Amino acid sequence: MRPTVLCFSGLDPSGGAGLQADIEAIGQSGAHAAIACTALTVQNSQQVFSFEATPKALLLAQANAVVGDLPIHVVKSGMLGTTDNIAALAEFLREHPDYAYVLDPVLVANSGGSLGNQETLVKAFVELIPLATLITPNTVELRALTGEQNIDVATQKLFEMGAKAVLVKGGHEDTADYIQNSLYANGELISETQCPRLEGEYHGSGCSLASFIAGRLAQGDALKNAVHHAETWLFGVLKKAEIPVEGGQRIPKRF
Ligand code: PLP
Repeated sequence: MRPTVLCFSGLDPSGGAGLQADIEAIGQSGAHAAIACTALTVQNSQQVFSFEATPKALLLAQANAVVGDLPIHVVKSGMLGTTDNIAALAEFLREHPDYAYVLDPVLVANSGGSLGNQETLVKAFVELIPLATLITPNTVELRALTGEQNIDVATQKLFEMGAKAVLVKGGHEDTADYIQNSLYANGELISETQCPRLEGEYHGSGCSLASFIAGRLAQGDALKNAVHHAETWLFGVLKKAEIPVEGGQRIPKRF
């Protein structure tokens, strides 16, 4: 069986983000995706209306059901929704120190809608940061997690908080023509990549990137290779993304 990535992620009915993005991206990376569903959201490509988080015990039961059943190599988390779910994931990871862990620190949807109480989520993420093999914040999340505005200072603060490797995604910065991502390991910059900035807003681009990285790590790629492979793949699927309705965020075409 293909190496498996176990994702802790939420359902997005539009199919752009969340667990569907994870399943499609991990499948495209060559690995198998398993899901412990953290929340059912009510949203479309334009806005988040509400969400209901999975109770902690049920979330852990889902994850534990596939341990020993599937060849899990990597855990990936996206929307966790509640501090209870963050604590559940931390407990699960401590029980399985052999799993690599990709933490996509989702706080709000790209549409701006709430996916949890940002203030309490930020405090709870402190427990997950030292457990992660790689953290993939955009610059909005990086600033929120660290309370620092300057990107370099914020990145160093994340390492002081116990991070091992960080991919800082520059899509929210005001570089008009390009997006720069910076990969750091053990506090040192190890790679910078730039791609042209595509027109429009995308739903589920962060989920897709983190999941593809997790899928490549599960198959044995070194960190830098996994990230570069995922960036190239993501650019391709965003270029052919589909526009659902006028004003809707584009949905990456992952197949
Ligand atoms: N997970 C869920 C369930 C979501 O609904 C969203 C955004 O809407 C995300 C994660 C994060 O999405 P993105 O990849 O656009 O940051």
